[in-house]
Amino acid sequence: MKALWLENNLTSLRDIPQPNKPAEALIKIRRAGVCSTDLELVKGYYPFTGILGHEFVGEVVNAPEPAWIGQRVVGEINAVCGKCESCLNGRPTHCENRSVLGITNRDGVFAEYTTLPLENLYRVPDSVPDEMAVFTEPLAAALEIQQQIQVKPTDRVVLIGAGRLGQLIAQTLALTGCDLHVVARHPYQQSLLTARGIRLITEAEIQPRKWDIVVEATGSPDGFNLARGAIRPRGTLVMKSTYKGDMSINFSSIVVDEINIIGSRCGPFGPALRLMEKREVDPSVLIAAQYKLGEAVKALEHAAQTGVLKVLIEPYRQGHSLRNGHIPEHLHEHDDKGDKNNYTGNNREGSRIVFARKPIHPNGKSKRS
Ligand SMILES: [Zn+2]
Ligand SMILES: [Zn+2]
Repeated sequence: MKALWLENNLTSLRDIPQPNKPAEALIKIRRAGVCSTDLELVKGYYPFTGILGHEFVGEVVNAPEPAWIGQRVVGEINAVCGKCESCLNGRPTHCENRSVLGITNRDGVFAEYTTLPLENLYRVPDSVPDEMAVFTEPLAAALEIQQQIQVKPTDRVVLIGAGRLGQLIAQTLALTGCDLHVVARHPYQQSLLTARGIRLITEAEIQPRKWDIVVEATGSPDGFNLARGAIRPRGTLVMKSTYKGDMSINFSSIVVDEINIIGSRCGPFGPALRLMEKREVDPSVLIAAQYKLGEAVKALEHAAQTGVLKVLIEPYRQGHSLRNGHIPEHLHEHDDKGDKNNYTGNNREGSRIVFARKPIHPNGKSKRS
């Protein structure tokens, strides 16, 4: 099968044998999403050799339990042992012997097929199209915040960063009814937020030491410093991004101000699927472009461009006759010749599918033209 292989900071398309793990489900990838973690792995921030990618929706084509065969699924990325202290105490995402899909000791999803243990799989409701389901993992990561801390309707919350993960955090925090403001740098990121009635704030407008909860989702020292300055004494600082290298922090001020600092990573899949099923969030507005697996190297380059949100990779052309072939209203499938409204770069091949972005109303419905 074709797969995007990472080795020594270089990605290349390879032909490798289809995975063979009879104890796990064999999953045919329908769509995969490029995430910042993939780009960081390519830059070598974490050591990994193998097939990249961990965000996917796919179809089970073989499984130890036949009932799974034919099911459209998403999957938790941590494959765990079930026996270590973390597993036995209800912290499976911190399993001491875990492998992580496309990140640690386990081949990922930028490929025609992948495998995962059955216990990792969640069936995707028919009403959730692939273009939404592929966001289950990052949406779950966004929801982890509410899993970790109570966000009260009276809380003043500022989110710093409105990129791939920041957008999903904004959509889910908005559901809590808190007084949410978001720092978003790029005009397109800003427009997605205002379309959902989410308020923006500039860095200069953030009153220092006033905010109950500050969520840092930029992964930059500047973002951290802004977050640190904004938090009130005894407030909570949620860190949703990893940082390259080390950072210098004044810990005395954190002690004196009694700040809670929360590190936050993987989250619950079930609620993420439920929110998409009820259309309470719509992650598909983040889609900037879709590439064929054969153009996966290009897809990663595209995703690395400033301000680009989600780039999808599609191993097989998906037919519209499929039960879930529905495409959300605001997405229009077409060839990208001369359309200025999408991030497609050049298009010599003329073969790939892109989604033009349409303006959306605050109720999340598209403007029908
Ligand atoms: Zn990710
Ligand atoms: Zn374990």
